[in-house]
Amino acid sequence: MTSLPQERRLVTEIPGPRSRELQARKTAAVAQGVGTTLPVYVTAAGGGVLVDVDGNSLIDLGSGIAVTTVGNSAPRVVEAVTEQVAAFTHTCFMVTPYDGYVRVAEELNRLTPGEFEKRSALFNSGAEAVENAVKIARAYTRKTAVVVFDHAYHGRTNLTMAMTAKNMPYKSGFGPFASDVYRAPLSYPYRDGLSGEEAAARAIEQVESQVGAANLAAIVIEPIQGEGGFIVPAPGFLAALAAWCRENDVVFVADEVQTGFARTGAMFAVDHENVVPDLVVSAKGIAGGLPLSAVTGRAEIMDAAHGGGLGGTYGGNPLACAAALAVIETIEADSLVDRAAKIGGQLTERLQALQSRDPRIGEVRGRGAMVAVELVKAGTTEPDADLTKKVAAAAHERGVVVLTCGTFGNVLRFLPPLSISDELLAEACDVLDEAFGVVA
Ligand SMILES: *Cc1c(COP(=O)(O)O)cnc(C)c1O
Repeated sequence: MTSLPQERRLVTEIPGPRSRELQARKTAAVAQGVGTTLPVYVTAAGGGVLVDVDGNSLIDLGSGIAVTTVGNSAPRVVEAVTEQVAAFTHTCFMVTPYDGYVRVAEELNRLTPGEFEKRSALFNSGAEAVENAVKIARAYTRKTAVVVFDHAYHGRTNLTMAMTAKNMPYKSGFGPFASDVYRAPLSYPYRDGLSGEEAAARAIEQVESQVGAANLAAIVIEPIQGEGGFIVPAPGFLAALAAWCRENDVVFVADEVQTGFARTGAMFAVDHENVVPDLVVSAKGIAGGLPLSAVTGRAEIMDAAHGGGLGGTYGGNPLACAAALAVIETIEADSLVDRAAKIGGQLTERLQALQSRDPRIGEVRGRGAMVAVELVKAGTTEPDADLTKKVAAAAHERGVVVLTCGTFGNVLRFLPPLSISDELLAEACDVLDEAFGVVA
């Protein structure tokens, strides 16, 4: 365990004077396009807390956007990376390889769903891996079109901006975007009232009429949407899409960048629905904070890209691979898949209790330690982004780091590290209660 005291401790206002000083320097030195949710400058983190330059200790319900799932500076990660950094830091796997990369590929092939022969390739960021999944699907099918969904988030590179739904802040002014990307309607039970089968039929009909299976290389979908609002599709939606892909020589790609690696109370979110994607994209939680991403899938699809066609200078960097192996060991040794489910149960129970008293909470949803509340004007389903901002600010002031998301900016999301204690999580829920209370 971390040596940091596991407590919420506020010794200044949030952000404190030293953070404000650093934020002024940030404004002068860093491009303003790089935003910050909560400008407290961190000096240490572990378990369930972040400690800032003013000596405040905040409860972390964000995990750096679902990255430090095993905890910040998790002991096995620290040990593995320390050992690796002293041995060698880089050779480039495409020049002179090393076994850490191969072991991560073997582990991904073992952990991802599907009892068939698989291959993996490693990259640096989620967006880069999504782009490579598209490259691989195009090479395999010899088709070019890509279908994505309403509310989707796949990254900020040119192709992934085209795949991402939301204009502000991700796309506005940054076009033109990559072509041959088409958007289909999602299953969004709170807002469309459709069953999974109905929503899938609607999406498939649109894809068939507007794109055509003969032109379609891949369907790319987040099993639970992340930035789009933690939207859990109705049961059967993903399975129906996957079945249609199988019948039509279309590669079914699960973007598990946010949902993967134990986050949802399963190793991968598709496991909850027994859906087996052709390709799975991993990143975020895979390496405890070191930059690493991956595409894993059916050997015949993965091997369709010609030799030398995939790669990158840093992809599968030795430090990131050492971290990933330590993350996987930690998830398995500490039963973190079960821990995620338990955290989800505790959070959901508290949020549902809050919802029963507060009609501004339209829905509580999510899976495992990926939980959100969608906020609306009381008695309607009209999104309330302003309320969402205010509740988040009230939580921040009180020393609890929460994130917002959603196409309409009206979703508060909770992604605690799985190393958080029950006591700290309960205290964070008390603070949320209070935050809703003070925002009239
Ligand atoms: C964060 C995210 C990405 C992009 O990952 P980066 O590492 O930021 O490039 C892609 N897909 C999903 C679902 C994500 O949550």
